Amino acid sequence: MEYQTILNQIENEFKDSKVSGKVASYIPELAKVPADKFGMHLYDLNEGHFNFGDSNERFSIQSISKVFSLALAMKVIGDDLWNRVDVEPSGDPFNSLSSLENEGGIPRNPFINAGALVVADVLVSYFTNPKAALLTFLHEITGDPSICYDETVAASERSEGYRNYALVNYMKSFGNIENDVDDVLDFYFHQCSLAMSCKELAQAFIVFANEGTTLESEREILSAQQVKRINALMQTCGFYDEAGEFSFEVGLPGKSGVGGGIVAVHPDHYSVAVWSPPLNPKGNSALGMAALERLTTLTGYSIF
Ligand code: GLU
Repeated sequence: MEYQTILNQIENEFKDSKVSGKVASYIPELAKVPADKFGMHLYDLNEGHFNFGDSNERFSIQSISKVFSLALAMKVIGDDLWNRVDVEPSGDPFNSLSSLENEGGIPRNPFINAGALVVADVLVSYFTNPKAALLTFLHEITGDPSICYDETVAASERSEGYRNYALVNYMKSFGNIENDVDDVLDFYFHQCSLAMSCKELAQAFIVFANEGTTLESEREILSAQQVKRINALMQTCGFYDEAGEFSFEVGLPGKSGVGGGIVAVHPDHYSVAVWSPPLNPKGNSALGMAALERLTTLTGYSIF
């Protein structure tokens, strides 16, 4: 596959286009990121690395981190996790509180904020130092010990994190949060602040294209069944109330973040990460989605 030619074409098609959308501003630190950043990195199991633009620059991965925390929670507590969080698409915005009341404090899935906060609670219960444990996990899957939290972004999100405080408190009232609310949120704000580049994200997500095993070090991180489940959740829930649209346009499992990153996986083929900060009204990178649509159209392959 001529991946570099296709990536060059995508860069040319979009580099001068007027990007619609708005850089996230409800986390003050994110509003400072230049809107014209644009990069993409594809990592193919057989053919290696391809990229363009700002693909080596680190940015705030935000909700993409929910895939890592979910994978770690599945490793440490197994199927018990599903007693506390469901696996159904929500059709609601990422930070919605509405379905929790009718569903007894059980979040619809692990990728809406409510679900990710329950996953965070699981990790806070399990590990003495959950922030260090998540970093160790990431260092293991990427082989890169320099990946770290951005304390400024974490503090910035905490300063305006009223909705996430509301979600944790509300779920605690139903008995679905075990730990102190501040401890859960401290972990959650840190996981969202993780700074990674498109290259590093593609490197981390190759595990989900490779049945749970890292490519370079050949370490089995997750079982094939766990990977099947995580990819299924990315497909059905990775883009909140735009999961259908992403499937329709791109046709790959993926996960977005309000920092403007999107990662997608073509199982048994490649992982790909794209970054463009302006978001569409549903909170997903507008240009990122368009670029991935071009990728699966120009290659002629998706999972469908
Ligand atoms: N830290 C963000 C929040 O909780 C993550 C949202 C996202 O990336 O979709 O609001």
